[in-house]
Amino acid sequence: MSGRSDCRKFAPNIFNKSKCTNCFRQKEEHSAEALESNRKALAG
Ligand SMILES: [Zn+2]
Repeated sequence: MSGRSDCRKFAPNIFNKSKCTNCFRQKEEHSAEALESNRKALAG
């Protein structure tokens, strides 16, 4: 496996918002695109 996450959409974990509920990686390890898709979900 590569070091980078292929998670396309960051979803904050219920117990730890700095981690993703999908891949359990840090928010910082996600691409800006993955974070943005989350923002869009909240806005919509
Ligand atoms: Zn993720």
